[in-house]
Amino acid sequence: PRMVRNAAFTYVRPDPFDKTELVGVSDAALRDLAIDPASVETPEFEDIVAGKNIITLESDKEPSETQVYPWAQCYGGYQFGQWAGQLGDGRAISLFESTNPTTGVRYEVQLKGAGRTPYSRFADGRAVVRSSIREFIVSEALHALGIPTTRALSLTLAPEAKVRREMTEPGAIVARFAQTWLRIGTFDLPRSRGDRDMIRKLAEYSAVDVFGGWEKLPAKVPSSEEPAVLQPGDGVPKEELQGENEQEENRFTRLYREIARRNAKMVAWWQAYAFTNGVLNTDNTSIFGLSIDFGPFAFLDNFDPNYTPNHDDHMLRYSYKNQPSIIWWNLVRLGEALGESIGAGGRCDEEEFVTQGVAKDWADELVKRAETIIEQVGEEYKAVFMAEYKRLMTARLGLKSFKQTDFEELYSELLDTLEALELDFNHTFRKLSYISTTDIDSDEKRKDVAGRFFHHEGLSALAGSEEEARTRVASWLEKWRNRVIEDWSDSPGTCEERFRAMRAVNPKFVPRSWILDEVIERVEKKGEREIINNVMKMALNPFNEEWGWNREEEERFCGDVPRYQRAMQCSCSS
Ligand code: AMP
Ligand code: MG
Ligand code: MG
Repeated sequence: PRMVRNAAFTYVRPDPFDKTELVGVSDAALRDLAIDPASVETPEFEDIVAGKNIITLESDKEPSETQVYPWAQCYGGYQFGQWAGQLGDGRAISLFESTNPTTGVRYEVQLKGAGRTPYSRFADGRAVVRSSIREFIVSEALHALGIPTTRALSLTLAPEAKVRREMTEPGAIVARFAQTWLRIGTFDLPRSRGDRDMIRKLAEYSAVDVFGGWEKLPAKVPSSEEPAVLQPGDGVPKEELQGENEQEENRFTRLYREIARRNAKMVAWWQAYAFTNGVLNTDNTSIFGLSIDFGPFAFLDNFDPNYTPNHDDHMLRYSYKNQPSIIWWNLVRLGEALGESIGAGGRCDEEEFVTQGVAKDWADELVKRAETIIEQVGEEYKAVFMAEYKRLMTARLGLKSFKQTDFEELYSELLDTLEALELDFNHTFRKLSYISTTDIDSDEKRKDVAGRFFHHEGLSALAGSEEEARTRVASWLEKWRNRVIEDWSDSPGTCEERFRAMRAVNPKFVPRSWILDEVIERVEKKGEREIINNVMKMALNPFNEEWGWNREEEERFCGDVPRYQRAMQCSCSS
Protein backbone atom coordinates (compact mmCIF):
# COMPACT_ATOMS: atom_id res chain seq x y z
CA PRO A 1 0.00 0.00 0.00
CA ARG A 2 1.26 3.45 -0.88
CA MET A 3 0.66 6.45 1.36
CA VAL A 4 -0.17 9.43 -0.82
CA ARG A 5 0.43 12.80 0.82
CA ASN A 6 -0.04 16.35 -0.44
CA ALA A 7 -2.28 15.13 -3.25
CA ALA A 8 -5.97 14.46 -3.64
CA PHE A 9 -5.55 12.06 -6.55
CA THR A 10 -3.03 10.07 -8.53
CA TYR A 11 -2.79 9.60 -12.30
CA VAL A 12 -3.36 5.97 -13.17
CA ARG A 13 -3.85 3.80 -16.21
CA PRO A 14 -6.64 1.21 -16.50
CA ASP A 15 -5.55 -2.39 -16.87
CA PRO A 16 -8.20 -3.77 -19.22
CA PHE A 17 -9.39 -7.36 -19.50
CA ASP A 18 -8.48 -9.15 -22.74
CA LYS A 19 -11.89 -10.37 -23.77
CA THR A 20 -14.89 -8.28 -22.89
CA GLU A 21 -18.54 -8.23 -23.69
CA LEU A 22 -20.71 -5.11 -23.37
CA VAL A 23 -23.98 -6.45 -21.97
CA GLY A 24 -25.92 -3.43 -20.79
CA VAL A 25 -26.25 0.29 -21.36
CA SER A 26 -28.67 2.61 -19.57
CA ASP A 27 -30.77 4.70 -21.97
CA ALA A 28 -31.34 7.26 -19.24
CA ALA A 29 -27.59 7.56 -18.73
CA LEU A 30 -27.03 8.11 -22.46
CA ARG A 31 -29.56 10.95 -22.36
CA ASP A 32 -28.05 12.57 -19.29
CA LEU A 33 -24.53 12.36 -20.66
CA ALA A 34 -25.72 13.51 -24.10
CA ILE A 35 -24.23 10.47 -25.81
CA ASP A 36 -25.70 9.61 -29.18
CA PRO A 37 -27.35 6.16 -28.77
CA ALA A 38 -26.04 5.19 -32.22
CA SER A 39 -22.48 5.44 -30.93
CA VAL A 40 -23.12 2.61 -28.47
CA GLU A 41 -22.84 0.18 -31.36
CA THR A 42 -19.35 1.36 -32.24
CA PRO A 43 -16.17 -0.43 -31.15
CA GLU A 44 -14.91 2.89 -29.85
CA PHE A 45 -17.67 3.10 -27.24
CA GLU A 46 -17.16 -0.51 -26.18
CA ASP A 47 -13.44 0.06 -25.81
CA ILE A 48 -13.83 3.21 -23.75
CA VAL A 49 -16.25 1.70 -21.23
CA ALA A 50 -14.03 -1.39 -20.99
CA GLY A 51 -10.95 0.72 -20.19
CA LYS A 52 -9.19 -0.26 -23.44
CA ASN A 53 -9.18 3.18 -24.98
CA ILE A 54 -8.26 6.21 -22.95
CA ILE A 55 -9.82 9.09 -24.79
CA THR A 56 -7.87 12.25 -24.43
CA LEU A 57 -9.75 15.49 -24.37
CA GLU A 58 -8.70 19.01 -25.13
CA SER A 59 -8.71 20.89 -21.86
CA ASP A 60 -10.64 24.16 -22.00
CA LYS A 61 -8.94 25.49 -18.89
CA GLU A 62 -5.22 25.10 -19.32
CA PRO A 63 -4.09 25.64 -22.89
CA SER A 64 -0.78 24.05 -21.99
CA GLU A 65 -2.54 20.85 -20.99
CA THR A 66 -3.84 19.15 -24.06
CA GLN A 67 -4.82 15.89 -22.44
CA VAL A 68 -6.91 14.64 -19.60
CA TYR A 69 -5.35 11.56 -18.14
CA PRO A 70 -7.25 9.06 -15.93
CA TRP A 71 -6.97 9.41 -12.18
CA ALA A 72 -7.89 7.74 -8.89
CA GLN A 73 -8.95 9.73 -5.84
CA CYS A 74 -7.28 9.75 -2.47
CA TYR A 75 -9.48 9.59 0.62
CA GLY A 76 -9.75 8.03 4.06
CA GLY A 77 -12.67 7.07 6.20
CA TYR A 78 -14.26 5.90 9.40
CA GLN A 79 -15.42 2.32 8.90
CA PHE A 80 -18.01 1.10 11.40
CA GLY A 81 -17.13 4.11 13.54
CA GLN A 82 -13.38 3.44 13.62
CA TRP A 83 -10.77 5.52 11.86
CA ALA A 84 -9.40 3.37 9.05
CA GLY A 85 -6.69 5.62 7.63
CA GLN A 86 -6.05 6.09 3.93
CA LEU A 87 -8.41 4.20 1.63
CA GLY A 88 -8.87 5.86 -1.76
CA ASP A 89 -10.19 4.59 -5.09
CA GLY A 90 -8.79 1.08 -4.96
CA ARG A 91 -10.73 -0.04 -7.99
CA ALA A 92 -12.29 3.07 -9.48
CA ILE A 93 -10.54 5.08 -12.17
CA SER A 94 -11.96 8.38 -13.41
CA LEU A 95 -11.65 8.90 -17.15
CA PHE A 96 -12.84 12.44 -17.78
CA GLU A 97 -15.41 15.07 -16.94
CA SER A 98 -18.15 15.91 -19.36
CA THR A 99 -20.81 18.61 -19.37
CA ASN A 100 -24.20 17.99 -20.90
CA PRO A 101 -24.61 20.94 -23.30
CA THR A 102 -28.38 21.11 -22.79
CA THR A 103 -28.67 20.80 -19.02
CA GLY A 104 -25.28 22.25 -18.18
CA VAL A 105 -24.72 19.46 -15.64
CA ARG A 106 -21.16 18.25 -15.43
CA TYR A 107 -20.34 14.64 -14.64
CA GLU A 108 -17.17 12.79 -13.74
CA VAL A 109 -17.15 9.49 -15.63
CA GLN A 110 -15.26 6.57 -14.14
CA LEU A 111 -14.71 2.85 -14.43
CA LYS A 112 -15.13 0.48 -11.52
CA GLY A 113 -13.06 -2.69 -11.61
CA ALA A 114 -10.54 -1.57 -14.23
CA GLY A 115 -7.47 -2.58 -12.27
CA ARG A 116 -5.15 -1.62 -9.46
CA THR A 117 -4.35 1.88 -8.29
CA PRO A 118 -2.02 3.17 -5.56
CA TYR A 119 -5.05 2.84 -3.28
CA SER A 120 -5.77 -0.84 -3.91
CA ARG A 121 -3.89 -1.80 -0.74
CA PHE A 122 -3.79 -5.62 -0.74
CA ALA A 123 -6.70 -6.09 -3.13
CA ASP A 124 -6.81 -6.60 -6.89
CA GLY A 125 -8.63 -3.56 -8.25
CA ARG A 126 -11.27 -5.82 -9.80
CA ALA A 127 -15.00 -6.28 -9.42
CA VAL A 128 -16.97 -9.48 -9.95
CA VAL A 129 -20.10 -9.97 -12.01
CA ARG A 130 -22.56 -10.18 -9.13
CA SER A 131 -21.70 -6.88 -7.46
CA SER A 132 -21.43 -5.17 -10.85
CA ILE A 133 -24.91 -6.28 -11.93
CA ARG A 134 -26.26 -5.05 -8.61
CA GLU A 135 -24.59 -1.64 -8.91
CA PHE A 136 -25.53 -1.21 -12.57
CA ILE A 137 -29.22 -1.80 -11.91
CA VAL A 138 -29.69 -0.14 -8.53
CA SER A 139 -27.95 3.11 -9.53
CA GLU A 140 -30.41 3.64 -12.33
CA ALA A 141 -33.37 2.36 -10.29
CA LEU A 142 -32.76 4.89 -7.52
CA HIS A 143 -32.41 7.65 -10.06
CA ALA A 144 -35.69 6.68 -11.73
CA LEU A 145 -37.42 6.77 -8.35
CA GLY A 146 -36.17 10.32 -7.87
CA ILE A 147 -33.53 9.45 -5.26
CA PRO A 148 -30.25 11.38 -5.57
CA THR A 149 -27.58 8.88 -6.56
CA THR A 150 -24.42 8.17 -8.49
CA ARG A 151 -25.31 6.71 -11.86
CA ALA A 152 -24.36 3.82 -14.11
CA LEU A 153 -23.79 4.04 -17.85
CA SER A 154 -22.80 0.53 -18.84
CA LEU A 155 -21.96 -2.98 -17.74
CA THR A 156 -19.13 -4.89 -19.39
CA LEU A 157 -18.39 -8.53 -18.57
CA ALA A 158 -15.10 -10.34 -18.79
CA PRO A 159 -16.39 -13.93 -18.78
CA GLU A 160 -12.97 -15.51 -19.14
CA ALA A 161 -11.22 -13.47 -16.49
CA LYS A 162 -10.32 -15.19 -13.25
CA VAL A 163 -10.92 -12.87 -10.35
CA ARG A 164 -10.05 -14.47 -7.03
CA ARG A 165 -12.60 -14.25 -4.27
CA GLU A 166 -13.69 -17.25 -2.18
CA MET A 167 -13.57 -18.98 -5.55
CA THR A 168 -12.40 -17.60 -8.87
CA GLU A 169 -15.08 -15.70 -10.69
CA PRO A 170 -15.42 -13.82 -13.98
CA GLY A 171 -14.82 -10.08 -13.84
CA ALA A 172 -16.83 -7.03 -14.82
CA ILE A 173 -16.50 -3.28 -15.28
CA VAL A 174 -19.22 -0.74 -14.61
CA ALA A 175 -18.87 2.67 -16.24
CA ARG A 176 -20.44 5.09 -13.84
CA PHE A 177 -20.82 8.83 -13.38
CA ALA A 178 -21.72 11.45 -10.83
CA GLN A 179 -21.64 15.22 -10.40
CA THR A 180 -18.81 14.49 -7.99
CA TRP A 181 -17.20 11.47 -6.35
CA LEU A 182 -15.96 13.46 -3.37
CA ARG A 183 -17.06 12.02 -0.08
CA ILE A 184 -16.74 12.90 3.57
CA GLY A 185 -13.72 10.61 3.74
CA THR A 186 -12.00 12.94 1.26
CA PHE A 187 -11.91 15.52 4.07
CA ASP A 188 -11.29 13.03 6.89
CA LEU A 189 -7.88 12.09 5.52
CA PRO A 190 -6.21 15.53 5.47
CA ARG A 191 -7.80 16.22 8.85
CA SER A 192 -6.13 13.13 10.27
CA ARG A 193 -2.82 14.44 8.93
CA GLY A 194 -3.35 17.98 10.18
CA ASP A 195 -3.15 19.17 6.58
CA ARG A 196 -5.08 22.43 6.82
CA ASP A 197 -3.95 23.57 3.41
CA MET A 198 -5.39 20.48 1.72
CA ILE A 199 -8.70 20.84 3.57
CA ARG A 200 -9.02 24.39 2.33
CA LYS A 201 -8.15 23.43 -1.25
CA LEU A 202 -10.76 20.68 -1.15
CA ALA A 203 -13.34 23.08 0.29
CA GLU A 204 -12.55 25.60 -2.42
CA TYR A 205 -12.81 22.94 -5.12
CA SER A 206 -16.12 21.68 -3.69
CA ALA A 207 -17.68 25.12 -3.47
CA VAL A 208 -16.49 26.40 -6.81
CA ASP A 209 -16.31 23.34 -9.05
CA VAL A 210 -18.97 21.12 -7.53
CA PHE A 211 -21.58 23.56 -6.21
CA GLY A 212 -20.96 26.23 -8.83
CA GLY A 213 -19.58 29.03 -6.64
CA TRP A 214 -19.43 30.10 -3.02
CA GLU A 215 -22.33 32.48 -3.64
CA LYS A 216 -24.60 29.51 -4.43
CA LEU A 217 -24.31 28.14 -0.92
CA PRO A 218 -27.25 28.90 1.34
CA ALA A 219 -27.16 31.32 4.24
CA LYS A 220 -28.70 30.46 7.57
CA VAL A 221 -32.37 29.55 7.49
CA PRO A 222 -34.62 31.34 9.99
CA SER A 223 -35.29 28.86 12.76
CA SER A 224 -38.80 27.57 12.49
CA GLU A 225 -40.09 24.05 12.29
CA GLU A 226 -40.59 24.14 8.55
CA PRO A 227 -37.42 25.47 6.96
CA ALA A 228 -37.77 27.48 3.82
CA VAL A 229 -36.93 25.30 0.89
CA LEU A 230 -33.71 26.72 -0.45
CA GLN A 231 -32.74 26.37 -4.05
CA PRO A 232 -29.21 26.67 -5.35
CA GLY A 233 -28.58 30.36 -5.86
CA ASP A 234 -30.59 31.40 -2.81
CA GLY A 235 -27.32 32.15 -1.12
CA VAL A 236 -25.78 35.45 -0.26
CA PRO A 237 -24.29 38.04 -2.62
CA LYS A 238 -20.64 37.44 -3.36
CA GLU A 239 -19.44 40.60 -1.65
CA GLU A 240 -20.95 39.50 1.66
CA LEU A 241 -19.03 36.26 1.74
CA GLN A 242 -16.22 37.68 3.78
CA GLY A 243 -17.35 38.43 7.32
CA GLU A 244 -16.11 41.20 9.53
CA ASN A 245 -15.49 39.44 12.80
CA GLU A 246 -14.86 35.99 14.13
CA GLN A 247 -18.40 35.48 15.42
CA GLU A 248 -19.78 35.66 11.97
CA GLU A 249 -20.94 32.76 9.92
CA ASN A 250 -18.47 32.36 7.09
CA ARG A 251 -18.48 30.59 3.75
CA PHE A 252 -17.16 27.33 5.18
CA THR A 253 -20.26 27.12 7.36
CA ARG A 254 -22.36 27.66 4.27
CA LEU A 255 -20.55 24.88 2.47
CA TYR A 256 -21.06 22.61 5.46
CA ARG A 257 -24.74 23.54 5.62
CA GLU A 258 -25.25 22.75 1.93
CA ILE A 259 -23.66 19.33 2.31
CA ALA A 260 -25.75 18.60 5.41
CA ARG A 261 -28.99 19.72 3.78
CA ARG A 262 -28.39 17.60 0.71
CA ASN A 263 -27.69 14.53 2.79
CA ALA A 264 -30.78 15.19 4.94
CA LYS A 265 -32.92 15.14 1.82
CA MET A 266 -31.27 12.05 0.43
CA VAL A 267 -31.72 10.02 3.59
CA ALA A 268 -35.36 11.15 3.79
CA TRP A 269 -35.85 9.51 0.39
CA TRP A 270 -34.14 6.35 1.62
CA GLN A 271 -36.49 6.16 4.59
CA ALA A 272 -39.58 6.94 2.53
CA TYR A 273 -38.72 4.23 -0.02
CA ALA A 274 -37.15 1.80 2.44
CA PHE A 275 -33.71 1.69 0.84
CA THR A 276 -30.76 0.64 2.97
CA ASN A 277 -27.17 1.33 1.93
CA GLY A 278 -25.66 -1.22 4.30
CA VAL A 279 -22.15 0.29 4.67
CA LEU A 280 -22.52 3.92 5.66
CA ASN A 281 -18.88 4.59 6.40
CA THR A 282 -17.71 8.17 5.93
CA ASP A 283 -15.97 7.17 2.69
CA ASN A 284 -19.40 6.08 1.46
CA THR A 285 -21.15 9.38 2.21
CA SER A 286 -21.17 11.84 -0.68
CA ILE A 287 -20.64 15.57 -0.23
CA PHE A 288 -23.25 16.07 -2.95
CA GLY A 289 -25.91 14.13 -1.05
CA LEU A 290 -25.86 11.22 -3.49
CA SER A 291 -26.50 7.59 -2.70
CA ILE A 292 -23.01 6.19 -3.23
CA ASP A 293 -21.20 2.86 -3.01
CA PHE A 294 -23.52 -0.05 -3.63
CA GLY A 295 -22.24 -3.05 -1.73
CA PRO A 296 -24.69 -5.04 0.38
CA PHE A 297 -27.55 -2.53 -0.18
CA ALA A 298 -31.19 -3.61 -0.24
CA PHE A 299 -34.73 -2.37 -0.40
CA LEU A 300 -36.74 -3.66 2.53
CA ASP A 301 -39.28 -6.32 1.68
CA ASN A 302 -41.46 -6.71 4.77
CA PHE A 303 -41.13 -3.65 6.96
CA ASP A 304 -38.54 -4.22 9.68
CA PRO A 305 -36.80 -1.13 11.11
CA ASN A 306 -33.95 -3.27 12.46
CA TYR A 307 -33.14 -4.79 9.11
CA THR A 308 -29.59 -4.39 7.86
CA PRO A 309 -28.63 -5.86 4.50
CA ASN A 310 -25.05 -6.24 5.69
CA HIS A 311 -24.40 -9.73 6.95
CA ASP A 312 -21.42 -8.52 9.00
CA ASP A 313 -23.28 -5.64 10.65
CA HIS A 314 -23.91 -7.40 13.95
CA MET A 315 -24.49 -4.19 15.90
CA LEU A 316 -27.14 -3.07 13.39
CA ARG A 317 -25.17 0.15 13.01
CA TYR A 318 -26.27 0.45 9.39
CA SER A 319 -29.83 -0.79 9.84
CA TYR A 320 -32.77 0.97 8.21
CA LYS A 321 -33.81 2.84 11.31
CA ASN A 322 -30.28 4.09 12.05
CA GLN A 323 -29.58 5.63 8.66
CA PRO A 324 -30.60 9.23 9.45
CA SER A 325 -28.51 9.33 12.63
CA ILE A 326 -25.53 7.60 11.01
CA ILE A 327 -25.47 10.08 8.14
CA TRP A 328 -25.47 12.79 10.79
CA TRP A 329 -22.65 11.05 12.66
CA ASN A 330 -20.67 11.16 9.41
CA LEU A 331 -21.54 14.82 8.88
CA VAL A 332 -20.18 15.64 12.34
CA ARG A 333 -16.85 14.17 11.21
CA LEU A 334 -16.99 16.55 8.25
CA GLY A 335 -17.79 19.43 10.61
CA GLU A 336 -14.70 18.54 12.59
CA ALA A 337 -12.55 18.43 9.46
CA LEU A 338 -13.80 21.90 8.52
CA GLY A 339 -13.83 22.92 12.20
CA GLU A 340 -10.98 25.41 12.28
CA SER A 341 -12.22 27.14 9.14
CA ILE A 342 -15.82 27.20 10.35
CA GLY A 343 -14.84 28.46 13.80
CA ALA A 344 -12.66 31.28 12.49
CA GLY A 345 -15.71 33.22 11.38
CA GLY A 346 -14.86 36.36 9.42
CA ARG A 347 -11.17 35.89 10.20
CA CYS A 348 -10.87 32.67 8.24
CA ASP A 349 -8.81 34.34 5.52
CA GLU A 350 -6.23 35.95 7.74
CA GLU A 351 -2.67 35.24 6.78
CA GLU A 352 -1.85 33.77 10.15
CA PHE A 353 -4.74 31.36 9.87
CA VAL A 354 -4.25 30.27 6.30
CA THR A 355 -0.63 29.39 6.75
CA GLN A 356 -0.04 26.35 8.92
CA GLY A 357 1.35 28.40 11.79
CA VAL A 358 -1.74 29.25 13.81
CA ALA A 359 -1.19 28.94 17.53
CA LYS A 360 -2.41 25.74 19.12
CA ASP A 361 -4.63 27.48 21.66
CA TRP A 362 -6.26 29.56 18.96
CA ALA A 363 -6.86 26.46 16.85
CA ASP A 364 -8.48 24.74 19.85
CA GLU A 365 -10.67 27.76 20.44
CA LEU A 366 -11.79 27.73 16.79
CA VAL A 367 -12.73 24.08 16.94
CA LYS A 368 -14.75 24.71 20.09
CA ARG A 369 -16.60 27.55 18.39
CA ALA A 370 -17.28 25.30 15.44
CA GLU A 371 -19.00 22.81 17.76
CA THR A 372 -21.82 25.27 18.40
CA ILE A 373 -22.21 25.87 14.68
CA ILE A 374 -22.19 22.13 13.97
CA GLU A 375 -24.99 21.73 16.51
CA GLN A 376 -27.03 24.42 14.80
CA VAL A 377 -26.51 22.77 11.43
CA GLY A 378 -27.62 19.54 13.12
CA GLU A 379 -30.92 21.15 14.02
CA GLU A 380 -31.29 22.20 10.42
CA TYR A 381 -30.41 18.71 9.25
CA LYS A 382 -33.26 17.33 11.38
CA ALA A 383 -35.71 19.94 10.14
CA VAL A 384 -34.82 19.39 6.48
CA PHE A 385 -35.01 15.63 6.93
CA MET A 386 -38.44 15.83 8.57
CA ALA A 387 -39.83 18.27 6.01
CA GLU A 388 -38.67 16.09 3.13
CA TYR A 389 -39.83 12.86 4.76
CA LYS A 390 -43.27 14.32 5.41
CA ARG A 391 -43.49 15.62 1.86
CA LEU A 392 -42.64 12.21 0.42
CA MET A 393 -44.91 10.24 2.76
CA THR A 394 -47.79 12.63 2.11
CA ALA A 395 -47.41 12.00 -1.61
CA ARG A 396 -47.03 8.24 -1.18
CA LEU A 397 -50.25 8.13 0.84
CA GLY A 398 -52.08 10.04 -1.87
CA LEU A 399 -52.69 13.10 0.28
CA LYS A 400 -52.44 16.71 -0.73
CA SER A 401 -51.63 18.16 2.66
CA PHE A 402 -49.83 17.26 5.84
CA LYS A 403 -51.62 17.44 9.17
CA GLN A 404 -49.74 17.14 12.43
CA THR A 405 -51.99 14.22 13.42
CA ASP A 406 -50.91 12.28 10.30
CA PHE A 407 -47.66 11.46 11.98
CA GLU A 408 -49.21 9.37 14.73
CA GLU A 409 -52.40 8.25 13.13
CA LEU A 410 -51.23 7.48 9.63
CA TYR A 411 -47.45 7.04 9.47
CA SER A 412 -46.68 5.43 12.82
CA GLU A 413 -49.78 3.32 12.85
CA LEU A 414 -49.12 2.10 9.31
CA LEU A 415 -45.46 1.32 9.98
CA ASP A 416 -46.27 -0.46 13.25
CA THR A 417 -48.92 -2.51 11.47
CA LEU A 418 -46.60 -3.45 8.61
CA GLU A 419 -43.95 -4.47 11.10
CA ALA A 420 -46.27 -6.47 13.35
CA LEU A 421 -47.94 -8.30 10.46
CA GLU A 422 -44.73 -8.62 8.42
CA LEU A 423 -46.23 -6.93 5.41
CA ASP A 424 -44.32 -5.63 2.42
CA PHE A 425 -43.45 -1.94 2.55
CA ASN A 426 -43.35 -0.87 -1.09
CA HIS A 427 -46.11 -3.22 -2.22
CA THR A 428 -48.43 -1.70 0.38
CA PHE A 429 -48.14 1.77 -1.14
CA ARG A 430 -48.66 0.51 -4.66
CA LYS A 431 -51.73 -1.45 -3.54
CA LEU A 432 -53.17 1.63 -1.84
CA SER A 433 -52.90 3.35 -5.22
CA TYR A 434 -55.78 1.23 -6.55
CA ILE A 435 -58.21 1.57 -3.62
CA SER A 436 -61.15 3.92 -4.01
CA THR A 437 -62.96 5.41 -1.06
CA THR A 438 -66.07 3.39 -1.95
CA ASP A 439 -64.02 0.17 -1.88
CA ILE A 440 -63.57 0.75 1.85
CA ASP A 441 -66.72 2.55 2.99
CA SER A 442 -67.86 -0.12 5.44
CA ASP A 443 -66.12 -2.18 8.06
CA GLU A 444 -66.96 -5.33 6.20
CA LYS A 445 -65.45 -4.04 2.96
CA ARG A 446 -62.35 -2.79 4.75
CA LYS A 447 -61.72 -6.18 6.33
CA ASP A 448 -62.12 -7.74 2.96
CA VAL A 449 -59.73 -5.30 1.27
CA ALA A 450 -57.23 -5.84 4.12
CA GLY A 451 -56.54 -9.28 2.67
CA ARG A 452 -55.02 -7.68 -0.43
CA PHE A 453 -52.03 -6.63 1.65
CA PHE A 454 -51.30 -10.14 2.88
CA HIS A 455 -48.78 -12.44 1.25
CA HIS A 456 -50.57 -14.83 -1.11
CA GLU A 457 -49.38 -17.72 1.04
CA GLY A 458 -51.14 -16.10 4.01
CA LEU A 459 -49.88 -14.25 7.03
CA SER A 460 -46.68 -15.20 8.75
CA ALA A 461 -47.01 -17.33 11.86
CA LEU A 462 -45.82 -14.42 14.01
CA ALA A 463 -48.53 -12.08 12.80
CA GLY A 464 -51.28 -13.46 15.06
CA SER A 465 -54.76 -14.50 14.01
CA GLU A 466 -56.03 -13.52 10.62
CA GLU A 467 -59.16 -11.92 12.08
CA GLU A 468 -57.08 -9.66 14.32
CA ALA A 469 -54.84 -8.74 11.41
CA ARG A 470 -57.81 -7.85 9.22
CA THR A 471 -59.27 -5.72 12.01
CA ARG A 472 -56.01 -3.85 12.46
CA VAL A 473 -55.50 -3.10 8.77
CA ALA A 474 -59.19 -2.18 8.42
CA SER A 475 -58.99 0.32 11.23
CA TRP A 476 -56.00 1.98 9.58
CA LEU A 477 -57.80 2.02 6.22
CA GLU A 478 -60.68 3.86 7.83
CA LYS A 479 -58.41 6.63 9.11
CA TRP A 480 -56.69 6.83 5.76
CA ARG A 481 -60.03 6.99 3.96
CA ASN A 482 -61.14 9.91 6.11
CA ARG A 483 -57.99 11.82 5.29
CA VAL A 484 -58.32 11.07 1.58
CA ILE A 485 -61.88 12.38 1.59
CA GLU A 486 -60.76 15.46 3.50
CA ASP A 487 -57.98 16.24 1.00
CA TRP A 488 -59.78 15.36 -2.22
CA SER A 489 -63.20 16.86 -1.45
CA ASP A 490 -62.94 18.96 -4.59
CA SER A 491 -63.18 15.94 -6.86
CA PRO A 492 -66.00 13.75 -5.55
CA GLY A 493 -67.03 10.53 -7.20
CA THR A 494 -63.78 9.90 -9.05
CA CYS A 495 -60.55 8.56 -7.69
CA GLU A 496 -58.79 8.60 -11.05
CA GLU A 497 -56.83 11.74 -10.39
CA ARG A 498 -55.60 10.44 -7.04
CA PHE A 499 -54.80 7.05 -8.54
CA ARG A 500 -52.66 8.70 -11.18
CA ALA A 501 -50.86 10.83 -8.61
CA MET A 502 -50.22 7.85 -6.34
CA ARG A 503 -49.03 5.52 -9.07
CA ALA A 504 -46.55 8.16 -10.15
CA VAL A 505 -44.82 8.04 -6.77
CA ASN A 506 -45.43 4.45 -5.66
CA PRO A 507 -43.37 2.12 -7.84
CA LYS A 508 -44.74 -1.15 -9.07
CA PHE A 509 -41.17 -2.40 -9.43
CA VAL A 510 -38.17 -2.06 -7.16
CA PRO A 511 -35.01 -4.17 -7.65
CA ARG A 512 -35.23 -6.31 -4.56
CA SER A 513 -32.43 -8.60 -3.49
CA TRP A 514 -34.19 -11.78 -4.61
CA ILE A 515 -34.66 -10.37 -8.11
CA LEU A 516 -31.06 -9.24 -8.41
CA ASP A 517 -29.98 -12.67 -7.20
CA GLU A 518 -32.05 -14.35 -9.86
CA VAL A 519 -30.64 -12.06 -12.56
CA ILE A 520 -27.10 -12.83 -11.39
CA GLU A 521 -27.75 -16.54 -11.40
CA ARG A 522 -29.26 -16.48 -14.87
CA VAL A 523 -26.35 -14.46 -16.23
CA GLU A 524 -23.62 -16.44 -14.52
CA LYS A 525 -24.96 -19.98 -14.67
CA LYS A 526 -27.27 -19.97 -17.68
CA GLY A 527 -25.40 -17.48 -19.84
CA GLU A 528 -28.45 -15.27 -20.26
CA ARG A 529 -27.83 -11.65 -21.23
CA GLU A 530 -31.16 -10.11 -22.26
CA ILE A 531 -32.48 -10.42 -18.68
CA ILE A 532 -30.15 -7.57 -17.68
CA ASN A 533 -31.69 -5.20 -20.19
CA ASN A 534 -35.21 -6.33 -19.37
CA VAL A 535 -34.80 -5.75 -15.65
CA MET A 536 -33.05 -2.47 -16.41
CA LYS A 537 -36.11 -1.45 -18.43
CA MET A 538 -38.24 -2.08 -15.34
CA ALA A 539 -35.79 -0.25 -13.10
CA LEU A 540 -35.79 2.77 -15.39
CA ASN A 541 -39.59 2.88 -15.53
CA PRO A 542 -40.60 1.71 -12.06
CA PHE A 543 -44.08 3.28 -12.11
CA ASN A 544 -45.24 1.52 -15.29
CA GLU A 545 -48.01 -1.09 -15.29
CA GLU A 546 -46.15 -3.19 -17.83
CA TRP A 547 -42.91 -3.19 -19.78
CA GLY A 548 -43.64 -5.28 -22.85
CA TRP A 549 -41.04 -8.03 -22.63
CA ASN A 550 -42.78 -10.85 -20.80
CA ARG A 551 -46.00 -10.24 -18.92
CA GLU A 552 -45.63 -13.28 -16.69
CA GLU A 553 -42.04 -12.55 -15.70
CA GLU A 554 -42.83 -8.90 -15.11
CA GLU A 555 -45.70 -9.76 -12.77
CA ARG A 556 -43.55 -12.27 -10.92
CA PHE A 557 -40.86 -9.63 -10.33
CA CYS A 558 -43.52 -7.20 -9.12
CA GLY A 559 -45.32 -9.75 -6.99
CA ASP A 560 -44.92 -11.20 -3.53
CA VAL A 561 -41.38 -11.94 -2.46
CA PRO A 562 -40.87 -15.71 -2.26
CA ARG A 563 -41.07 -16.24 1.48
CA TYR A 564 -37.68 -17.89 1.97
CA GLN A 565 -36.03 -15.13 -0.06
CA ARG A 566 -37.24 -12.20 2.02
CA ALA A 567 -34.90 -9.76 3.71
CA MET A 568 -31.79 -11.46 2.40
CA GLN A 569 -28.38 -10.36 3.56
CA CYS A 570 -25.17 -9.99 1.66
CA SER A 571 -21.67 -10.63 2.90
CA CYS A 572 -20.38 -9.12 -0.30
CA SER A 573 -16.78 -9.92 -0.98
CA SER A 574 -17.32 -8.09 -4.20
P1 AMP B 1 -16.02 -0.11 0.31
O1 AMP B 1 -16.26 -1.05 1.45
O2 AMP B 1 -16.67 -0.50 -0.95
O3 AMP B 1 -16.36 1.31 0.69
O4 AMP B 1 -14.45 -0.15 0.01
C1 AMP B 1 -13.51 0.26 0.97
C2 AMP B 1 -12.17 0.45 0.33
O5 AMP B 1 -11.67 -0.79 -0.18
C3 AMP B 1 -12.13 1.43 -0.82
O6 AMP B 1 -10.93 2.14 -0.74
C4 AMP B 1 -12.14 0.53 -2.04
O7 AMP B 1 -11.56 1.14 -3.16
C5 AMP B 1 -11.31 -0.64 -1.55
N1 AMP B 1 -11.58 -1.88 -2.27
C6 AMP B 1 -12.64 -2.70 -2.14
N2 AMP B 1 -12.55 -3.75 -2.96
C7 AMP B 1 -11.39 -3.61 -3.64
C8 AMP B 1 -10.72 -4.37 -4.64
N3 AMP B 1 -11.22 -5.52 -5.12
N4 AMP B 1 -9.53 -3.90 -5.10
C9 AMP B 1 -9.01 -2.77 -4.64
N5 AMP B 1 -9.58 -2.02 -3.70
C10 AMP B 1 -10.77 -2.41 -3.20
MG1 MG C 1 -16.49 2.79 -0.64
MG1 MG D 1 -17.83 -0.49 -2.43
